[in-house]
Amino acid sequence: MSEIRLERIHKIYKETRAVDDVSLTVSEGEFMILLGPSGCGKTTLLRSIAGLEEIDAGRVWIGDRNVTDVPPRNRKIAMVFQSYAVFPHMTVFENIAFGLRMQKMEKGAVTKRVESAAELLHIENLLQRHPSQVSGGQRQRIAVARAIAMEPEVLLMDEPLSNLDALLRIEMRAELKRLLSEIGSTTVYVTHDQVEAMSMGDRIAVMRTGKILQLGKPLDIYRTPVDKFVGGFIGNPPMNFVSATVDRSDGGLRAGIEGAGSLAIHADDAEKLAGHVGKPVTLGIRAENVDVSRDAENSGDMLKGSVLVVEPLGSHDLLTVRLGNEQIKVATRPDLAVRMDEEVGLRFEHDYISWLDADSERTIGM
Ligand code: ATP
Repeated sequence: MSEIRLERIHKIYKETRAVDDVSLTVSEGEFMILLGPSGCGKTTLLRSIAGLEEIDAGRVWIGDRNVTDVPPRNRKIAMVFQSYAVFPHMTVFENIAFGLRMQKMEKGAVTKRVESAAELLHIENLLQRHPSQVSGGQRQRIAVARAIAMEPEVLLMDEPLSNLDALLRIEMRAELKRLLSEIGSTTVYVTHDQVEAMSMGDRIAVMRTGKILQLGKPLDIYRTPVDKFVGGFIGNPPMNFVSATVDRSDGGLRAGIEGAGSLAIHADDAEKLAGHVGKPVTLGIRAENVDVSRDAENSGDMLKGSVLVVEPLGSHDLLTVRLGNEQIKVATRPDLAVRMDEEVGLRFEHDYISWLDADSERTIGM
């Protein structure tokens, strides 16, 4: 199996820096996600690995081979792209078998591989049809089946589940994850769907304007985003951000939130915030890390907020709470039965607070 190593990749289209000095190592057998909003350079980076894009600077390594100047067909990779090209004149079976036939694999082995890939993607009853006789989502699955049937060392996928309906997408993402870990392919997978990224990836590279902003395990990025953009992009609802001012009081530090009260800054955080006393900061907290007390009057050291909206979602209620001049989203147990317009006390779990510099919007100490 093969590691992929990208060294200082640049790709510029006229005035657009589509990929701007990106270095990244994908370990052997790893499932790496490239995640980011439309136009951030994910596809261009993936196409650079495939050799479909001539890069302006940098080097691409697959295993111990420098493939920067090697044509795509000699890079020993399998690809599934958004525009899932399938051959219209071949049956679904022959489409899936295509790469294996090129490798001159023995007939019985081809049939076995094709059938098992088709089964996995729930298209085993379509094998004798032609692509024009199947739906768009099914055509996309043919392209995925063709790639995984190769059991490739390196697999590159660009939004391979984008044409599937919501239920099938959830099912496929779990099955694909299991299968790829069995095959052991080194996989780079492009998506703008942060749920897909969180649930499938061993690691995620979050991209914006041609750069990787943060690279890490899904939960690490979720818990400690490097900046406001990443915290807002990952998670549903996005991380809450609240303006606060750091002050010294009673020997410790407190963060004041205008119109809502203040909270004690935990000793672990006080050190890194010492340089921010008297200055504005931005506090990041996720909806599930806010405890709600219905007894606002007696809630002591809590922040005070008022409930604007209650959305019952079954597993939890999602509240929109006014906190001073701002609004945050808070997840509560449904049995708390909070009502609209109610005054509530809020406690932020201090282990889950991100402290950001108000100007740079970057997490302090990262
Ligand atoms: P999406 O999720 O919408 O596919 P992406 O993150 O994959 O977006 P890319 O397709 O890599 O983004 O594009 C990155 C930037 O490069 C964009 O600003 C895009 O407009 C520009 N770009 C991509 N291909 C070309 C091209 N052939 N000519 C000129 N500009 C291009």
